[in-house]
Amino acid sequence: MSAKYSFLKGPELRPSGWVRRQLEIQAAGQAGQLDRIWPDVRDSRWVGGDREGWERVPYWLDGFIPLAYLLGDEDMISRAKRYVDAILAGQQSDGWICPNGDTPREKYDMWAVELLSKVLFVYYDLSGDGRVPEAVYRALRNWYEGLRSGSLKLFEWSRSRWFEALVAIRRLKELRGEEPWLLDLARMLREQGLDWGAASKKWDRFYYEWTHDTHIVNVGMCMKASELCADVLGEPPTGEADRLYAILERFHGTPSGAFNGDECLAGRSPIRGFELCSVAELMYSYEWLFALTGRQKWAERLERLAFNALPATLSDDMWTHQYDQMTNQNACVPGHTRSLFGTNGTEANMFGLEPNYGCCTANHGQAWPHFAMSTVMRSRGGLRVVTPVPALASIDFRGTRVELEIGGDYPFDNDITFTVTAGGDTDFALEIPVPGFATRVTVDGRPFDGRLIRRKGFPKGKTVITLGFRTEGRLTRTTGGLYALSAGSLLYALPVRAEKKKYEYVRYGTERKFPYCDYRLYPASDWNFGFDGPRQSFEPVRRARPDVPFSSEDPPLSISVRVAHIDWGLEPGYRYNCAAYPAHTAALDGGQTAEFVPYGCAKLRMTELPLCRRPSKSGAAGADAGTEPPGKEK
Ligand SMILES: [Zn+2]
Repeated sequence: MSAKYSFLKGPELRPSGWVRRQLEIQAAGQAGQLDRIWPDVRDSRWVGGDREGWERVPYWLDGFIPLAYLLGDEDMISRAKRYVDAILAGQQSDGWICPNGDTPREKYDMWAVELLSKVLFVYYDLSGDGRVPEAVYRALRNWYEGLRSGSLKLFEWSRSRWFEALVAIRRLKELRGEEPWLLDLARMLREQGLDWGAASKKWDRFYYEWTHDTHIVNVGMCMKASELCADVLGEPPTGEADRLYAILERFHGTPSGAFNGDECLAGRSPIRGFELCSVAELMYSYEWLFALTGRQKWAERLERLAFNALPATLSDDMWTHQYDQMTNQNACVPGHTRSLFGTNGTEANMFGLEPNYGCCTANHGQAWPHFAMSTVMRSRGGLRVVTPVPALASIDFRGTRVELEIGGDYPFDNDITFTVTAGGDTDFALEIPVPGFATRVTVDGRPFDGRLIRRKGFPKGKTVITLGFRTEGRLTRTTGGLYALSAGSLLYALPVRAEKKKYEYVRYGTERKFPYCDYRLYPASDWNFGFDGPRQSFEPVRRARPDVPFSSEDPPLSISVRVAHIDWGLEPGYRYNCAAYPAHTAALDGGQTAEFVPYGCAKLRMTELPLCRRPSKSGAAGADAGTEPPGKEK
């Protein structure tokens, strides 16, 4: 295998600072408590109950297991083990591992085994439980025999997401060597699975109908497929991820780094939306793409999602989430007559326990822990910093203990320290990226103009490297004549005050009760603004170090921005939601200063705004037809 970097394992990497705090919040919130409150996990067929016995427990474990180990929480570790024990105990003598119940094996969608096999290795790499490799080996072998004989086939989700099994196949290959059937299985999956390169020919438009090959979660997941498959099969890199990214960014890109899909590809409108699962899965794809290719752009795309799209769609306490978030989201209220979304229901952008559908309830918990496990990776010569958030890495390097502590508060602050503590003199090498957006960069107090800091050879004891840089706010043109403000990896938005209404009820045997109830958010302040002048200086100012890293009540940063009221208008047929594009962009008043905050902190917000038009010196306001909606509809 030719990957540039590899993930650290077990106790080699621990989050600290705000990343650890975020994980603690998650542990006390929904994803840390689903086995106590949510029937589809608590009473799943995977653990002998009668509720869902397919993707929901593996999805939940994919986040819960690393959350437990990264926090070193013994209670959570024992609760994770109870699930793994039950799953392994349910494996049949021929290797079949899924609780298909009364469903014949040939009709059970094997997406569950593609997902579960990966999740079991997450458990193995953190716990060292020696039962796992053999169990996964037997489960995949059983599936392989079924596919080869034709008694089992790929269909629906297993056909779309065939590549997810490559994660476990790759790990088995590392542990047991290159057994021919494993490579045969990888080839068979590629042949029988959905051809994503061909599917991408449909991605140049937006959809109001549901198909697997435009489904936003599948699309996020498939980004890694080609490079991962080439790596497993020993083939040269394909470059397909670059090609897919370019299409998605052009036709469906949003300023938070996610791609619109509600829940299929949705174009660039700031009020279409994208599903939380797609954010989590895109992040996971980018973590793999960075490890496989070593190209920093995947790490920068990863942090854009982690610092913007992910926190924006989770409540501060992580007890509730949205299914779809919108870039311009001035209300989270169900539509009265019809949904705002392509194929998602009217409740998809409320905050709640399982708004629209429960996949995100089970799956969103993987995003922060997998991100935390990807911030530093192992290189051939030592360690590679992927994104310089607070963390502690500790490895054995050619017989010498080497620790790397990343201090500071990135991305909320751009002064970062890297402390290497070596148990003896060593030729260990450390690589630290300098973000592409950084200006006035200094390393150890001296100006630096490279994009990678590389140090090789460390003496016994402590060595400290400091990195400092500036990020300047700038407006970027997005779509339909709108602009978005960002500084570094952080996108900024105008926060709209929210009036929250709480809903507690029971539906289909699942209870919504505080703190896992539903919330509708009504706008309680003006949102109809445009940027008042493009040539402003946008200076991020540190305001606070809140207990919640992306706090909606006490945001860590803000930028003062000149804005003016405009006639924006509501989306036709809706009482609260702003129109996709403003009706007129002429300034209606003399303007005012507004504090923009990180997008991830603003649950109601306006992010993409037009530049206001001001009357010319002659006094005429000039013709103003508003902004033009772009793109073509299918
Ligand atoms: Zn989902």
